[in-house]
Amino acid sequence: MDIASNLKSLEMPEDVTLIAVSKTKPASLIRRAYSAGQRDFGENYVQEAVSKIVELKDLDIRWHFIGHLQSNKARLAAEHFHMIQSLDSMKLAKRLDNACRELGKKLPVLFEVNIAGESQKSGVLKEELPNFVKYVANLSNLELKGLMCIPPFNENPEPHFREMKALYDRYKDEFNFSTLSMGMSSDYRQAIQYGSNMVRIGTKIFGARKP
Ligand SMILES: *Cc1c(COP(=O)(O)O)cnc(C)c1O
Repeated sequence: MDIASNLKSLEMPEDVTLIAVSKTKPASLIRRAYSAGQRDFGENYVQEAVSKIVELKDLDIRWHFIGHLQSNKARLAAEHFHMIQSLDSMKLAKRLDNACRELGKKLPVLFEVNIAGESQKSGVLKEELPNFVKYVANLSNLELKGLMCIPPFNENPEPHFREMKALYDRYKDEFNFSTLSMGMSSDYRQAIQYGSNMVRIGTKIFGARKP
């Protein structure tokens, strides 16, 4: 597999940040993507990620956590990641903030929005967002940068992307948002059309994952 040409064929616009989603993929493939110029990588599982992060310490990578984060792994994640994109509860926010205070670091975070209100999915409901935003904006070690979503599978994502953009615009100025993370291998072009400026792509870069 030619990771360099896969990256090239994505034809990323200049103003969109590409997160290469490397979950389940070995450090050797991350190195190849890095050699092709990729610097931002996304991981879903804390333990798996930390072992790769340690192994790849010699590289100048920005690591993004994009999976569901359990509060008891907050400290480990705060220590190793450069951004948490899947903030979904006040409890987790508080834990991350405390961990960052101890570590003496500021951590950029995004709220994961459960945009379609799916009961089996994590993420903040849009009705809850106003309270959550205010809460996290007051935590001094977290930097709330914006919103992230994963629209429902097997559905046209466009209405959800449109709604996310409207939510993002509502908070953008007051809370200084800069990042709207939406779009994966199958729908990133649409997401960008609807205003995404950060896409998270795994399959189209590294090939299919084993189930
Ligand atoms: C796995 C994953 C992706 C990448 O999905 P692909 O379809 O392989 O591009 C993006 N975002 C999140 C949150 C993921 O879990």
